[in-house]
Amino acid sequence: MVREVVVREDEGALQVVFPARGQVTLERTPAPVPGRGELVVRISSVGICATDLHLLDGHIGDPFPLVPGHEFVGVVDAVGPEDDRGLNTGDPVAVEMLVPCGRCDRCREGRHNLCELDDHALHPGAGRQMGVNIPRTAAPYSGGYATHLLVPRAGVVHRVPDGLDLETAVLAEPLAVAVRAVERGRVGLGDRVVIIGPGPIGLLAAAAASAAGAAEIVVVGGRQERRALARAFGATATVTERGAALVANLRARFGGGPDVVIEAAGAVEAQATAVQAVRRGGRVVLAGACGSGSVLALASDDMLLTREIDILPSFLAVGGYERSLGLLAQGRFPFASLITHVYPLSDVEKAFAAVRARTEGLTKAVLVPPAA
Ligand SMILES: [Zn+2]
Ligand SMILES: [Zn+2]
Repeated sequence: MVREVVVREDEGALQVVFPARGQVTLERTPAPVPGRGELVVRISSVGICATDLHLLDGHIGDPFPLVPGHEFVGVVDAVGPEDDRGLNTGDPVAVEMLVPCGRCDRCREGRHNLCELDDHALHPGAGRQMGVNIPRTAAPYSGGYATHLLVPRAGVVHRVPDGLDLETAVLAEPLAVAVRAVERGRVGLGDRVVIIGPGPIGLLAAAAASAAGAAEIVVVGGRQERRALARAFGATATVTERGAALVANLRARFGGGPDVVIEAAGAVEAQATAVQAVRRGGRVVLAGACGSGSVLALASDDMLLTREIDILPSFLAVGGYERSLGLLAQGRFPFASLITHVYPLSDVEKAFAAVRARTEGLTKAVLVPPAA
């Protein structure tokens, strides 16, 4: 898998690197030249995700040295020989973080988020997620906290539709995650949906549920500013209770419970609350990561068996990108307002500090690499 990257002498690339747990450096490297079937994308904007901080803190494996960043958009900078994507230099694109092997059964059935080559139990050290589990020593393509992204032949690239600016298109990945969560929950016309966690994924899930035809959307949690945002993203109501009080509220409000609860907070307590609150025969989508080793305990007969609850974990964004880009381009929701903080790539540590401090008014922070 390791191979030498061909370098262009005239131009350098800039990368943020996590050399090891807890360490952040900024490194200049030669700009990549695309090999057969590959592309180089000049990154215009990359979202900072909670996952990036969990990676840095060592909560998600040991993928170091890592170039982080999986929410990237940019412009095609160079097209390698035999590329059959039909893209040209200058085209605006969003690139999926997942690199499907394309050959395993899961990839062939369209679930490349479950690519068997990404299974660390079977294939230790062989990650398929750019910016998350592919160390830069393992493959020449790495994460999006960089000026340049080398997209491998198997990489999945989507053209950004005309009329959608790249500053907003950086939400393509998180919105695709939200679209998948809503689809996993089979949210449809008239459904009554509850979303726990008013972070970017929760807010975007409200928009996706609204677009899917949900009649009522209750967003749970958050400060006043987030609740106002939730309304702008399709919520018909917001509530702030937790635990038993939340269950009682939702059961009373919906006469037995909502049809679908989407957990986007990434907390096992909230996952348990979601199962308790949903109606008999309802669907619970687990869309938030709780951290490796977290254990969800449920009363098996009382909460699951006798109520026939569908529990639907939703992992990453497979299948959601085109709809995500379409929704962003429609502009039915004030997507750009989610991007509250923009930092130059070199201010990555300042940006992380602001995210960690849960700075008031910060919903989504993005990094902008220096232009060519
Ligand atoms: Zn993310
Ligand atoms: Zn595969």
